Amino acid sequence: MIDYRSDTVTKPSKAMQEAMFSAPVGDDVFGEDPSINELEKNAAAIFGMEAALFCPSGTMTNQIAIKCHTQPGDEVICDVTSHIYQYEGGGIAANSGAQVKLIHGDRGRITAEQVRESINADDVHKARTTLVSLENTSNRGGGSCYDLAEIKKIRAVCDEHNLALHLDGARLFNALVAKGESPEDYGKTFHSISICLSKSLGCPVGSLVMGSKDFIRKARRVRKAFGGGMRQAGYLAAAGIYALKNNVERLTEDHQHAKLLAEALSKKDFVETVLPVETNIVIFSVGGRFTPQSLVAKLKEQNVYWYSISPTQVRIVTHLDVTPDMIEKTINAINDL
Ligand SMILES: *Cc1c(COP(=O)(O)O)cnc(C)c1O
Repeated sequence: MIDYRSDTVTKPSKAMQEAMFSAPVGDDVFGEDPSINELEKNAAAIFGMEAALFCPSGTMTNQIAIKCHTQPGDEVICDVTSHIYQYEGGGIAANSGAQVKLIHGDRGRITAEQVRESINADDVHKARTTLVSLENTSNRGGGSCYDLAEIKKIRAVCDEHNLALHLDGARLFNALVAKGESPEDYGKTFHSISICLSKSLGCPVGSLVMGSKDFIRKARRVRKAFGGGMRQAGYLAAAGIYALKNNVERLTEDHQHAKLLAEALSKKDFVETVLPVETNIVIFSVGGRFTPQSLVAKLKEQNVYWYSISPTQVRIVTHLDVTPDMIEKTINAINDL
């Protein structure tokens, strides 16, 4: 089985498993799990931020951040395709009692100008705008990356209007590796950053949210209220420590693989457009001889798993369990279609 449905399908490697099974652990709700403490310290240091909090999922880290940055009735500015709005079960409303102002960005990326235009006036009729949330890389944008210069402009607009700036960085390391950017620059520019260890970094479970000490103190309380306080979860954190050390640089390989698949696809008559491939995601639209569903079914006969994400589009995600040999087999399967 060659599985491109998501970069969440990876299984922990032997070396990662060994790190997990030999992890020192303790009760993390008491702050006594050495592996979690080490992971949180390492992650915060990578981004030059004060503190970090280990959570079961990226949805939880985003939802905690939104809850910490807003009050009920507030408005959150984000792109219409963003995960926090589309794929977190209505959590912004359910958990924080906040509403959204949706921006139609370019492949998931919004501009400082769009943010400025979306901030509500200080007027009793309007919701209070308090938070801007960006996504990098953008999942529905086909793994597109922001320009750090634009993010800095967005931060300047946020500072002018006293807004918090959060980053859903589920795949932030893909962006950092693709653009050769430094994590510290991101740490300086956002009030909070959430990263997933269970996406392209190959961990079975886990995400982190980072911010100032005050923010993380608040976030820890919200995590408890959300039911996310775990006990000897150092076994999971050990996978994260291993991944941050060993699985970041290699992301370039996934990006090369995605480009090779996109190249093969772009030569096919039934492929209408392929979104520019910047990282490990390929999104393309299908027409003519195939529908997304029939194409996915056809590939499945060869044990190749793709994912149809809309009535016209298919998504392929490369990851560390996809080998060069599997890429070659997939390209042959594409050529034979
Ligand atoms: C996967 C993902 C998340 C978090 O998902 P979980 O499955 O809850 O870990 C958040 N944002 C983006 C952009 C994602 O792709």
